[in-house]
Amino acid sequence: MLCLNAAISYRTFTQIETCGSKTGRRDIASKNLGGDNGVNLQFDQTLAIDYSSRSQMIRVLTEEWVKNNIYCPRCGSPEIQRFPNNSAVADFFCPNCGNEYELKSKSGVLGHKIADGAYDTFIRRITSYNNPDFFILNYNADKLCVENVWMIPKHFFVPEVVEKRKPLSPVAQRAGWTGCNILLDKIPEQGRIRIIYGGIPEDKETVLEQVRRSSLLSTDSLEARGWLMDVLDCINRIQKQQFTLEDIYRFEWQLADKHPKNHNIRAKIRQQLQLLRDKGFIAFVGRGIYRKE
Ligand SMILES: [Zn+2]
Repeated sequence: MLCLNAAISYRTFTQIETCGSKTGRRDIASKNLGGDNGVNLQFDQTLAIDYSSRSQMIRVLTEEWVKNNIYCPRCGSPEIQRFPNNSAVADFFCPNCGNEYELKSKSGVLGHKIADGAYDTFIRRITSYNNPDFFILNYNADKLCVENVWMIPKHFFVPEVVEKRKPLSPVAQRAGWTGCNILLDKIPEQGRIRIIYGGIPEDKETVLEQVRRSSLLSTDSLEARGWLMDVLDCINRIQKQQFTLEDIYRFEWQLADKHPKNHNIRAKIRQQLQLLRDKGFIAFVGRGIYRKE
């Protein structure tokens, strides 16, 4: 048994360190996010006692916590359920709307990337349209409690947000295996929807509205989706509520780098601005002037 495991067992039966203002109180916890703010951020450490691998232990703790504390941000159902182990590509599903979710957990500072599994598998999934939405759970490894949870809707996963890692060395057990990282900072802010932030749950209705709004950015074609996300990302980076066509043309060369086959970047930008206006993300104020909505 690992030292960390032993420490957890010890803490379980002595005193539990807590996070946030209303933690360690399972009586007020379940399925209540965004209501009276009474969410139990603490992992149920008794579940970890039988595990010797740290990664397995964290998986059990985080999955159980999500099952007990997270609602379906697509339809608002108070309950989501876990798929039986190894039976599906996703971790959870909503019994009401059927939407699927995958959980990624990371301790400490979240940083701008999070490791995922095999690169090829991940790319195949996001290009096959049956990819799940993601929950990104950020926890405190000392206190064993949740600090942040974000939901990233499936349509924000385009190949540009997936980074290929170096293949494992020839002497490694899985020589040649190539993993990937999800580049969180490449996902536009509209696709990083806070469910819990700094230990405090966001209002549930606000979360549902943000998910509904973000789904307007969904398109069938992966290429169209990539363009829409890229132009939206440029708009997000303009530090003004109102901006001009010239402001957005400043990103022309960056977009040309990303889309080398397109030889009329400015026309493409204007087309995406129209789409974003039709979807309600920006408004046309006047000739060549736009406003973020
Ligand atoms: Zn649902």
